[in-house]
Amino acid sequence: MTGRRAAGTSAGPGSTLVTGIGELTTNAPGGPGTRDGDPTGLVTDAVLLLDGGRVAWAGPAREARDAVGHALDGREPDVTVDAGGRAVLPGFVDSHTHLVFAGDRAAEFEARMAGRPYEAGGIRSTVAATRAASDDVLRAGLARHLDEAARQGTTTVEVKGGYGLTVADEERSVRLAREVTPEVTFLGAHVVPVEFAGRADAYVDLVCGEMLATCAPHARWVDVFCETGAFTPEQSRRVLEAGAAAGLGVRVHAGQLGPGEGVRLAVGLGAAAVDHCTYLTDDDVAALAGSWTDSGTRPNGTSRAVAGTVATSGAGAGTVATLLPGVEFSTRQPYPDARRLLDAGAVVALASDCNPGSSYTSSMPLCVALAVREMRMTVAEAVWSATAGGALALRRDDVGHLAPGARADVVLLDAPSRTHLAYRPGVPLVAKTWKSGHPHP
Ligand SMILES: [Zn+2]
Repeated sequence: MTGRRAAGTSAGPGSTLVTGIGELTTNAPGGPGTRDGDPTGLVTDAVLLLDGGRVAWAGPAREARDAVGHALDGREPDVTVDAGGRAVLPGFVDSHTHLVFAGDRAAEFEARMAGRPYEAGGIRSTVAATRAASDDVLRAGLARHLDEAARQGTTTVEVKGGYGLTVADEERSVRLAREVTPEVTFLGAHVVPVEFAGRADAYVDLVCGEMLATCAPHARWVDVFCETGAFTPEQSRRVLEAGAAAGLGVRVHAGQLGPGEGVRLAVGLGAAAVDHCTYLTDDDVAALAGSWTDSGTRPNGTSRAVAGTVATSGAGAGTVATLLPGVEFSTRQPYPDARRLLDAGAVVALASDCNPGSSYTSSMPLCVALAVREMRMTVAEAVWSATAGGALALRRDDVGHLAPGARADVVLLDAPSRTHLAYRPGVPLVAKTWKSGHPHP
């Protein structure tokens, strides 16, 4: 039930009071009504107040009257929503997508399901379709996929280029991505394009030179596909160091198809995240966990958890292991061993890797369901990793949690608990989403 008590007085989102929340995931341990040792900061019978695009208060209903009155300084909320006992959580933070593309690869998927294995070179068919597409076709695709993601509860999304592979096409990719999100990643080193076949080092020269210089103004991050069939560790290091020298943060694709040096390269360069992590050596796991131990923080769903207190930008933050279970689902490969990472003390994020080849899903609820059912993450761990974990992977402290001051990015589920995200896979459970306090759509 929604009651509009008064019109908003400004062009901003005004204030929204959500009452009757059966189960509120705040990812803010230590807040009102949370239990000691719970990194997800769960509050039952809760109330959430959004004001001016930010979270103003979150806590138990029994404390709400005084707290909300104080937070609004005696004003009535502009809008009140009765959650009717349903669950509320932070909007999903999808820290890994490839949404600037044209065409699809349904035929390749069908062939793969009939027995042909996935190879990194399949990317090249999307490159051809993307180069041939107009800006407006690419914009329309971006808008369609972002709307699809938002309807499934995603409120922050990272978008990579990587299907242009020329200076002009990569510039276009990151420029169009920047129209829809600040989390833009330059991925000129996605795969060696056909016109550079046999001349990978010459292509890396281009990526590190003119292509980077042209793309960096639109991007926040640099990324490389460090994998057999894509780029060697030496080539990857060149790309990442050049990107870092241009002022970009570092993230890496590694360990998708087999073990390699990419994970330790990423940790050594202080990457915000290394993504896939399906094939890891013991040294890789130790390096990922150690990147947090060394910074004195461990914001994970483990007994030493201190979520919400970690430094999430600049020096001191470690390297997040971002798992992308949609890939294993869609390529019929073994899932990454999330338990091994979590038990070692690594910080884990979940993301969709939405792309037309290896994981054509924008559904973070599906990723949560796969993580719980196939990767032995607990529901609490999976939801944390899809929200707070993704925020850490983007080194953002304003999203992924619902502590006062956080961006008012909120999901209301059509379910009494977050467990239903895994318990009811494939069911559209997102009843309502707010982004910066604005309801979507
Ligand atoms: Zn990817």
